[in-house]
Amino acid sequence: MPDIMTIAACSTVLAGIMCVGMLLSWFKDGHPARLSWLFAPFGIAVPAGILLTWPEVLPGPWGLRLGWYFLTIVYGAAWTAARTLGGQRPMPLAILLPCTAVLIFSSTIGADAYMPQLRMLPRVLLFALFNGLAAREFGRMRRPQLPSATTLYWIFAAFFLFDLCRTPFALSLVSPFGPKPGEVWSIALFNFLIVLQGALMAMFITALGREQLAEQHYRLASIDPLTGIGNRRALEDRMRMLQEGHGRNGTTAVAVLDIDNFKAINDQMGHAFGDLVIADTGRMAAKVFGADNVFRIGGEEFAAIIVAATEGECIARAEAMRTRFAAFRHGSASETRTCTLSIGLASMDRADDHDSAFKAADRALYMAKRLGRNQTIMIDSQHPLEQPAGTANHRDTLSL
Ligand code: GH3
Ligand code: MG
Ligand code: MG
Repeated sequence: MPDIMTIAACSTVLAGIMCVGMLLSWFKDGHPARLSWLFAPFGIAVPAGILLTWPEVLPGPWGLRLGWYFLTIVYGAAWTAARTLGGQRPMPLAILLPCTAVLIFSSTIGADAYMPQLRMLPRVLLFALFNGLAAREFGRMRRPQLPSATTLYWIFAAFFLFDLCRTPFALSLVSPFGPKPGEVWSIALFNFLIVLQGALMAMFITALGREQLAEQHYRLASIDPLTGIGNRRALEDRMRMLQEGHGRNGTTAVAVLDIDNFKAINDQMGHAFGDLVIADTGRMAAKVFGADNVFRIGGEEFAAIIVAATEGECIARAEAMRTRFAAFRHGSASETRTCTLSIGLASMDRADDHDSAFKAADRALYMAKRLGRNQTIMIDSQHPLEQPAGTANHRDTLSL
């Protein structure tokens, strides 16, 4: 049967190993400043473990008191690691002030000479508080791309609830759960729980850091650098989400937008001016359709997902974009000019699949070009006309 010292010493060694592991993993990932707090809880757990295992290294009760002080800071550092992973500022004072207040409490009111039965209570409350705050941070990060955030949320929520439930017993249980002298089982259980939480945290927090990095790379690979809106890859993702039924209510239409006679704009005004017109188009489309709904799918070609109550409203939204674009003057004071857009529209609800809706919108765009450009045409994706329907009276919106 191991004695109390062996158990405590083993936990300290494990904390040291986890600290080195986190440090190595941080260096392997290029030591990003954003993740530098990740090993803080493990680093601080080492002096905490040393002082709680060998309290005689400091005079009187100070070894144990400071050991507990560092242990409360460990939980605060875990909360800070969660904060920084979520993109928030670390708040060292929000950790140090309550931990120091608890240290002062246990050295005065909770001291052996006064009311020793109270000394564990504020520590347990502080553990519960920091575990609860960390659970809240991970809860905020939960999304399908970051599955480890959900796991961490449940881990910290479980420890928060456990700490909360054991709070009343902090007045009567044996150490380290309460004020009475410790027994082998209580020390073993306490150390086991701390090491378990530390190991789970190390495992999933490292995974979360990598998931966030992958998400960031994926986002960058889905953005068109000239306009800042999504590219063809982002459109495919959006289409897939629609196919799976996310974000569907009302009517959904897909629009393909193409700047008219853009080659001539490039030739007459220069390529840089052409780029400016493309950037203006992306910006304006993001305003009209919503930034998540527009994509640059080619040189001067864009796609938009329009969700509205009726098909008529979808056409009206596309028309709003076309007329607004036609009225806009591109360029700076010395050199400005207006340009126009042609838009092809198709309902996604009535198409067999999203691919056929997109092809129908492309055919509608082709018709708009054939019929003189600077117009919006909506096509029925189930019964697309083989030929454009005449040329008369097609200056405005057409629904074929
Ligand atoms: P239409 O009205 O039929 O669409 O005629 P268009 O001239 O707009 O179409 P076309 O496809 O013939 O020309 C598109 C031009 O867009 C050709 C290409 O050089 C230019 N282009 C493609 N990508 C870029 C880009 O990133 N920047 C600039 N400035 N031009 C681009
Ligand atoms: Mg064009
Ligand atoms: Mg084109």
